[in-house]
Amino acid sequence: MAILLDGKKTAQNIRESLKERVKALADKGVRPGLSVTLVGEDPASKVYVSAKDAAATEVGIQAWTHRFPADVSEKELTGHLERQNQDPAVHGILLQMPLPGHLPSDKLLNLISAAKDVDGFHPINLGNLMLGRPGFKPCTPWGVQVLLKAYGLSPAGKHVVVVGRSNIVGKPIANMLVQKEDFANATVTVCHTGTPDLRRHTLQADFIIAAVGKPEVITGDMVKDGVVVVDVGVNRVKSDTTKSGFKLVGDVHFPSVEPKASHITPVPGGVGPMTIAMLLSNTVESAERGI
Ligand code: NAP
Repeated sequence: MAILLDGKKTAQNIRESLKERVKALADKGVRPGLSVTLVGEDPASKVYVSAKDAAATEVGIQAWTHRFPADVSEKELTGHLERQNQDPAVHGILLQMPLPGHLPSDKLLNLISAAKDVDGFHPINLGNLMLGRPGFKPCTPWGVQVLLKAYGLSPAGKHVVVVGRSNIVGKPIANMLVQKEDFANATVTVCHTGTPDLRRHTLQADFIIAAVGKPEVITGDMVKDGVVVVDVGVNRVKSDTTKSGFKLVGDVHFPSVEPKASHITPVPGGVGPMTIAMLLSNTVESAERGI
């Protein structure tokens, strides 16, 4: 039976250590501030934003949620983000994705000062990550690396297969794990829809990081014994066994993969809580940089 990589517990430990750092900042008269901007009424985004707000408040970060209607103009949002960049009480700025179609997401994300980009999506921070230089790391991939570290699972010298090449998960985690650093230094293969035979690659993997966005595509016959599996995916699927008629599953078929794995993340309770913990960590770090 595989050991479960408990993101909930690990994230709780991180939040406890952040509370200490927030106290140390308070002694110097600084309170970390996180400005979150939510556009429109996307139900999943609303849930994420309120979870971020609650977690920030728990560790002593001042959190503001700025809500705009779905038809907000680019000009108004630009002005708002520029004010957040200038506000000395704001150490971290987050623009919740996805934005309504008429708004240019990339342009607006690029407006956020790299020094306050606690989501780690700004090209400067992603460039620093690729170069192995300090900067804010994107929260989900960084959460994956920190979770592996918490369980002493170093990818160094191992073959890591990342399934997915999005800018927010697949590409950054591949870049992180290939760095010549502790808890990295891996040989990394990145698979995507252009990969003809996914199973050929996953069968060779010592570590699999699944960020596919499709329910249960990695199955037991695609992995070798002893593999470490990190499932980033969160997919809502129909279920006869729940009251709501829906349940959350990952990109990995847990029932067939878990018996072969040495370690595996549950969904939910694996990577998800780590993402928020790393966002808080980046915000505290931003406040520490300013003193
Ligand atoms: P995304 O932007 O949709 O990217 C998915 C990637 O998977 C793409 O690169 C795609 O290839 C590849 N792909 C899709 N089907 C494939 C297949 N059958 N075989 C091989 N590759 C395939 O998704 P994302 O933003 O990276 O998110 C991935 C998952 O993680 C989603 O379920 C999302 O909800 C979840 N997520 C969770 C958290 C968290 O905090 N827990 C945070 C972020 C995302 P192409 O590039 O060729 O299209």
